Amino acid sequence: MHSDPEDVAAYLRYLSRHVPSLDCFPPSSEGGTAPAEDRKTDRRLEQVDRTLDPASILALKEQAMACMACPLSKTRNHVVFGEGSEQSGLMFVGEGPGADEDRTGRPFVGRAGELLTKMIQAMGLSRDTVYIANTVKCRPPGNRVPTPEERTACFHFLDSQIRILQPRFMILLGQTASQVVLGRAEGITRLRGQMFLLPDYPGLRVLPTYHPAYLLRNPSAKKEVWEDLKTVMGWMGLGAESQTEGR
Ligand code: SF4
Repeated sequence: MHSDPEDVAAYLRYLSRHVPSLDCFPPSSEGGTAPAEDRKTDRRLEQVDRTLDPASILALKEQAMACMACPLSKTRNHVVFGEGSEQSGLMFVGEGPGADEDRTGRPFVGRAGELLTKMIQAMGLSRDTVYIANTVKCRPPGNRVPTPEERTACFHFLDSQIRILQPRFMILLGQTASQVVLGRAEGITRLRGQMFLLPDYPGLRVLPTYHPAYLLRNPSAKKEVWEDLKTVMGWMGLGAESQTEGR
């Protein structure tokens, strides 16, 4: 029996290494699978709130709305939990709320949000058919990068969102989201465009790409992002022939 969480995690790592047929998807020829030893599986399992009703994203949202677990709670105006279709197979994850998001309580509603919406539409989808969340739910002052302590304090909310919603595909927007979800230290330039399969989330294909805010500053990178989006569209069986690059 593997009733202890550490035993279960170790057993799953053993299976993923030695019984490849148990993987829902084969390894990508273009990218890599995050090595199990690079990931903080045990730490993340410990952060999951075991009292949460796993069927209720609303219960999780209520917890986030009242959360005072890190210093960002003192400066926020709104907790930005995430929004979209709870039945969606595709989740986008960004870094954290900005000023517009903090003001409205909704993710990706500023200029970067407008560009993300165009990216989603370029995939032949709409915002209300996907789910959008961030690694931290409260705005870091001045839009600074969330500290490691803030990321750690907030991670269990994103982890639970993924476990409850069980998306099949995830696009990580920018370096912070990529490092938090993948548990890796490389920069986004090295991570982007690769497919990752994560033992913590069986059946989920993950692809990092540039953040829309980066694209606003560096429009020439849109071409690479479009290639990344087309990769995910291929996974999802969405045709790219008739689509145009999101601008
Ligand atoms: S950022 Fe996350 S951990 Fe920090 S107060 Fe907000 S919800 Fe809580």
